[in-house]
Order: sequence, then structure tokens, then C-alpha cells
Amino acid sequence: LVRLRARLSRSQNALGQGLLTLLSREHLDEDTWEEIEDTLLTADVGVAPTQELVERLRERVKVLGTRTPEELRALLREELLQLVGTDFDRAVKTESGLETPGIVMVVGVNGTGKTTTTGKLARVLVADGRSVVLGAADTFRAAAADQLQTWGERVGARTVRGPEGGDPASIAFDAVKEGIAEGADVVLIDTAGRLHTKTGLMDELGKVKRVVEKHAPLDEVLLVLDATTGQNGLVQARVFAEVVDITGIVLTKLDGTAKGGIVVAVQRELGVPVKLVGLGEGADDLAPFEPEAFVDALLG
Ligand code: GDP
Repeated sequence: LVRLRARLSRSQNALGQGLLTLLSREHLDEDTWEEIEDTLLTADVGVAPTQELVERLRERVKVLGTRTPEELRALLREELLQLVGTDFDRAVKTESGLETPGIVMVVGVNGTGKTTTTGKLARVLVADGRSVVLGAADTFRAAAADQLQTWGERVGARTVRGPEGGDPASIAFDAVKEGIAEGADVVLIDTAGRLHTKTGLMDELGKVKRVVEKHAPLDEVLLVLDATTGQNGLVQARVFAEVVDITGIVLTKLDGTAKGGIVVAVQRELGVPVKLVGLGEGADDLAPFEPEAFVDALLG
């Protein structure tokens, strides 16, 4: 956990440190407030949340009068925490509460880290003593099923796959059937995310969802977004949210960007919490999203 925190802070603290430095100026003139706004916008916090935060900071700094560095830090920490949100239920739901396995569907545009995230999540679950079946329903990308199977072999989870270019829904169906037959605890379904035609995506994901739900309720639909894609990620989020009911967001590649503000923007956009973050390509580089650790990393 310490290592993960370190990795997060290396790339993220530009935002928090930048804000602290600006807020520490003796005279907070209009130019400075504009710089504060720019800092937030550059970090992909989004326009509305940025304006709200600046408004609150203005007010609170005024009330505070003279500011010690400690007071400023505490104030900013509080405000950033509120912005990130401490009320969300961020637990990934992997238990159905029924006889059937918990079913988790992983969606997102290809290249965002969907398959990797599915593999990492399987690893976490297996390490936790749960039996996992993987469904390789990303039949669009040729290597995806191999990649998932490799993860499965590595972590000790069986992978259900079909022929290349096969029907994703029937593979998802088989994976759930297999999970039920084996008495598995969790079935994780990796899906394809080609965005070039929205109707194609809609048809495909909708069908996967319907077919799965014939067997067992869907407990979690995780949308994987690449944090380095910035506002583009928001556009993707909107499209997917129209197609399936997203229940949680996984923000990957947070290790490779200082634009951590996307956490705030995407939660606002979907009204759904970030539940997991990807902090590298390795097997251990998936972490629960903890607002306090995140904000502390921002502040360096
Ligand atoms: P998919 O097409 O969405 O299934 O994407 P993949 O799972 O194949 O991932 C695409 C690339 O992103 C691979 O090279 C992964 O190793 C890499 N990747 C995935 N998650 C992370 C992450 O959190 N951090 C970094 N740095 N790379 C990641």
C-alpha cells in the first residue's frame, strides 16, 4: 500500500502542491485566483467543480485572514476531500447474496486496460479465497482471450472462451453457466469496447447483459477509463452509460498522469463512484480508491 501511495503521489502531487503554493501567496489577487482555476482545469477537474471549489476557497480564505501553511493545507485537504466525495459506497460488489455466483461485467473502450483490470481483479479475489471464472467475451481484439487466459492461469482462475470473432453474448452465457456449475464465487466477464458505431456497441453489450441476466443478476458493471485520455474519457463514459447501467468506475494508468482531477469529473458525469484505480501494469497494481489516500497524495 505504501508503494502504491508513493506511485500515486509521484505523478499527482503537481495539483495539490501547485494549489498550496498559489494559496500561500501574500496577496490573493484576481490573477492568482485565475491561476488556481487554471491549475484545477489543467488537472481535468472539470469546469463546474472547479468553479464551485474556487468559490468555496475564496470564502474560506477570506474568513481565515492570515494563513499559516498548516491551516492552508488542512483547509485544502478538507475541500478536496469534499470534492472527491466521502459518501459513496466504493466497495466492488462481488456477492450476489444468492446461490448463484456474483457476476461482474467489465466494459470500456479497447486499450483502456479492461483485460488487465479483469486479470488483476481476479487476482485480488482469488487471494481473498474466492473461486473465480473468467469469461473472455472480448472477441473483437484477437489477443484478448489469450491475454485473459494467461492472467487466469497465473492467478488460478478458469477462463471460458470461444472461437476468435465468436459471439460475445454466447461466451458470457457459457461463463456464467460454468460458474454456476462449478459453484464458483465470482464470474468476471471481459467485454469488447469498440466505439466506432454506437449502435453496434449498444447491441453487443445489451445482448451480453440480457443473456447473463437470464441466469443470474448482474452485481456490478465496471467501466474502465484510461486516466490519461482526459476529457475524451468523459465522452466515452457518456456513451457507455447510455448502453448499460454503470455501477462503478475503474480509473487506470493513474501512475502515468498528473491529471487526477478526472476522478471528480467522471463521478459528476455519471453519478457513480470511482471504485478502483490502476497504478501500473503489474499484477499488484490495482487498488481500491480511497479518497483520503488520494487527497493526501495530491497534497504530497
Ligand atoms: P484492453 O484493450 O482495454 O483490454 O486493454 P489492456 O488490458 O490490454 O491494456 C492496454 C495496455 O495498458 C496494456 O499494455 C496494459 O499493460 C496497460 N495498462 C493497463 N492498466 C494500466 C495501469 O493502471 N497503468 C499502466 N501504466 N498501464 C496499464
